[in-house]
Amino acid sequence: MIGDIMTISRLRMGTDGEGISTLVTFFDCPLHCKYCINDFCHEARTPYDNVPRGEYTPKELVKILEKDDIYYRMTGGGVVFGGGEPLLQSAFIHEVCKLSDPKWQKRIETSLNVPWRCVEPVVDDIDEWIIDVKDMDSKIYERYTGVDDRYLKDNIYRLKELVDKSKFHIRVPRIPGFNDKENIRYSVKRIKDMLGVEAEVFDYINCPKSSKYEKVEIPDFLNRPNT
Ligand code: SF4
Repeated sequence: MIGDIMTISRLRMGTDGEGISTLVTFFDCPLHCKYCINDFCHEARTPYDNVPRGEYTPKELVKILEKDDIYYRMTGGGVVFGGGEPLLQSAFIHEVCKLSDPKWQKRIETSLNVPWRCVEPVVDDIDEWIIDVKDMDSKIYERYTGVDDRYLKDNIYRLKELVDKSKFHIRVPRIPGFNDKENIRYSVKRIKDMLGVEAEVFDYINCPKSSKYEKVEIPDFLNRPNT
């Protein structure tokens, strides 16, 4: 089995959950977000960031992860799977998790808008589900991502039945030109109603300012530090 890997970024702190982690990003994504900062994930397979080639077996990837084993154990970190959309390669991720030390944290950064068959292989492997839901209003979602949100809500309900809610880290971005204060309030409330968790509201970095965008004041209880 081969993983189609875009970057391997070691010794990351403060950006992908607790502790020191290695971020492994994968090619391809079914979404086409207007402010995508990893747009090359849709392009030809040319990996970078100290990745000499794009294809790794699970064993080869675990060998790289093991280099920082001591840091993961000392800080509560581990491996973070990102993208692109990592769940498109969930069978590979499952194999990596099986070969990894159980003490490492396994996190995934996903849009969750993929068929359930892509989610299922890693349901028991992942310690933290970092889900960027974009916006819970379907029209805004489609306008921003170029696709409909047909899988997202169904997957949230299905995961909720299988995963403890402490493992959910839901993120709602402020998207200039696409959502406003009321839309964000609505998304946060929907998440609370669906999952019983408080979503994190955050700003996209490197997001081009839109002339149509009006800065919205977010109440303190909705504000969380950016990650
Ligand atoms: S989900 Fe992420 S990788 Fe995919 S298009 Fe949106 S920002 Fe880019």
